[in-house]
Amino acid sequence: MESNNNNNKEKRQQRRRGKPCYFCKNKQETIDYKDIFRIKKFVSERFKILPRRMSGTCSKHQRAIAIAVKRARHLALIPFTVD
Ligand SMILES: [Zn+2]
Repeated sequence: MESNNNNNKEKRQQRRRGKPCYFCKNKQETIDYKDIFRIKKFVSERFKILPRRMSGTCSKHQRAIAIAVKRARHLALIPFTVD
């Protein structure tokens, strides 16, 4: 699933140093799927999960978000998609 993207034309993505991800900052290990207000910060207006470079979360918490979002969707706390 994880492929190396070898695009050498665009290599100006700066690491945001000194800015940890939202959940690391708050020392929050898990993300509650019932906490839809928080989850909604990490989905687009069409309820798609934001990519990591937009949300600024670390890979660990990005995964946790993905799980939380999927759970929340399953329980109809947030819609799957909006048309
Ligand atoms: Zn994190």
